[in-house]
Amino acid sequence: MSLDLIAHDVVLADPQRVVCSAWEKAWTLPPRQTVSEWADANRIIAKGAGAEPGEWRTARNPILREIMDCLSDHSPVRIVDFMKSAQIGATEIGINWTGYVVDRGSDSMIVAQPVKDLARSWVLSKFDPAVQEMPELRAKFAADNTLEKHFPGGTLWAIWANSSNQLRQRTARYIFMDEVDEYPKDLGGQGPADQQLEARASSYGDRGKVYRACTPTIAGASAIEAGYQAGDMCVYVVQCPECGGEQTLDVERLQPDGTFACEVSGCVIHEHHKDTMLAEQGFGGTAYWKPTNPAADPYHRSFHAWAAYAPLGLGPSWKDLADAKAEADRDPNKMAGFYNLKLGLPFEGERQQQDSEEVAKLAEPGVHRGIVPPGGLVLTAGVDFQHDRAEIQVVATGRGQRRWVVDYAVIDLDPTILETYDALDEYLKGTWRTAKGIEMGISAAALDGGNWTETVAQFVKKVVGNSGSNRMIETPLGFIKQAVYLVRGRAEKKSDRAVYRPAKTEVNNREKTVARSIGVWGVGTSVLKHMVYGWMTAALGAKDEAEREGADENLSVRMLRFPGGRGDEVHDPLNPDPGALPARYFKGLTVEYFDQDAGAWIKPKGARNEELDTVVYAIWASLAPAVKADVIRDSQWAALEEQYHPVSHGLFDQPSDSRETLVPGSTPVAPVKPQAPAAPPRSAGIAARDGWGF
Ligand SMILES: [Zn+2]
Repeated sequence: MSLDLIAHDVVLADPQRVVCSAWEKAWTLPPRQTVSEWADANRIIAKGAGAEPGEWRTARNPILREIMDCLSDHSPVRIVDFMKSAQIGATEIGINWTGYVVDRGSDSMIVAQPVKDLARSWVLSKFDPAVQEMPELRAKFAADNTLEKHFPGGTLWAIWANSSNQLRQRTARYIFMDEVDEYPKDLGGQGPADQQLEARASSYGDRGKVYRACTPTIAGASAIEAGYQAGDMCVYVVQCPECGGEQTLDVERLQPDGTFACEVSGCVIHEHHKDTMLAEQGFGGTAYWKPTNPAADPYHRSFHAWAAYAPLGLGPSWKDLADAKAEADRDPNKMAGFYNLKLGLPFEGERQQQDSEEVAKLAEPGVHRGIVPPGGLVLTAGVDFQHDRAEIQVVATGRGQRRWVVDYAVIDLDPTILETYDALDEYLKGTWRTAKGIEMGISAAALDGGNWTETVAQFVKKVVGNSGSNRMIETPLGFIKQAVYLVRGRAEKKSDRAVYRPAKTEVNNREKTVARSIGVWGVGTSVLKHMVYGWMTAALGAKDEAEREGADENLSVRMLRFPGGRGDEVHDPLNPDPGALPARYFKGLTVEYFDQDAGAWIKPKGARNEELDTVVYAIWASLAPAVKADVIRDSQWAALEEQYHPVSHGLFDQPSDSRETLVPGSTPVAPVKPQAPAAPPRSAGIAARDGWGF
């Protein structure tokens, strides 16, 4: 529409004509256009927003064309993953796609960022400035709302992926997930946030589209790496300007002087050839994206590009990259950054990890699950919630901070429904028999409120009032105090202590929650995991040394000990040992590893780690104020010994069977009756009681 016509429309304002033209517009289908065609026709890069302000030219950065065009309305591709180095144009693809969707009125769209601040800043510093340069696009937005923009044909939401509410409330046909490696690996117990979002688009069947872009982080734990590997894994193939040989730009062939050695004939490839080399087939060049994963779903495309593919003048030079590579070779601290930011590859640093099969050998035959071993003087429990169950670990602590895993249970419940927590409550009120046949109750329990915070908080409020307060539970020896804590793992990579008191934050009434009102205690998960892993390392070392020297190992120096039951060499699913830990226990306990270079604990994607989480919470509960096992005085230990492991008590006294019926919540596992039927492996806890014929 020319300026001339607009002027006439205003002067002649004919209501009927205006209405008719609106109808005409509504009924005209937008032309078949790709995202790159739209960008070439419409996109203006604002000053200060990119290296080259002015009209967008896809030919300037040709590797982006095919990636963008997979996002076109008429493309059958449903998922696009772009694993890339920093500043190679992935965000521009997102802006172009968003502009395209809004301009054509295709449908609603979600742009997801890891956290709220980034969602706001994406809109305010990237998208809005781009829209300002395109008045026709700007005119499509009804109101100037930052995070929710309505346009003819849909709504554009900017959301943040660390909020269950945000993920639940929004659904859209098009979803752009920026920096997916920063999204929560498990949100609301429903799995990784990026997969939950992906499911949103798939509810639109083959019309939904997802674009994920990210600089990858840690190998094995990277969402974009997983997405890339699930797709067709395209690499960008270029021709050698000298011999015409086809190859990718491989960092291994990057020379210190900033040239590449040709893979085919050894020619020297100079950077000034780059723009010619990068031009694509069909657009005046010879380069192309080559799929390397023929097994992929044809509607899942994935692309990898690193900084050497940035257009001349728009990224680091090849010489810069050669220098960065040399620097990373010299200084291992820089290697992870070089991999992630320059190579666009996930980095696998040196791992501090445990071998689950080796650790499983630390289990002690003759020590039975469900029995508190001599020396175990205080019981604490850690509880982790999953979407259909709670997992509980009971740990005994004794003198010198020595600990024993006493029991492990899985209880079916719905964490969102308070009424289903009864079996968990019964379990926590249960007792465990010492080797002397005396029943011990749990002194403190830590319940993870990381997910389903409000329902878990309601449970804690119901049983003890404030988080960390006590209730009285009945044991055959009389009533004992039990503290129940609502806890949450601290997010920081390096916690400097185990126990953090609830933060006294000012909250306005609108945001007041049960969890905040009763107090959420913090768990320094990082430091506690280091403790647990350190103990395992020390125990394995001592065990090896004893074996080498043919000496008897002094087990009493172990800081964390595990029941081994009958000592079966191989787990027999038909005749499971009720005195041993569940078969998968040691796998879950050791599944995480500490990445030295990232300085963080890593849980491999999709892995289960409830055994590690619950032991950490149980140890935490023994250090929290109600027990403070680290400062219990010698006289107090002595009193506990007299109570639970009295020397006067007959060494071979068998516990009376009546005890079990007196305490319905007590542990179901009774290793003194190994002939009893096997407990179902998934319900080692409460449900197993039926199997024992109570
Ligand atoms: Zn060559």
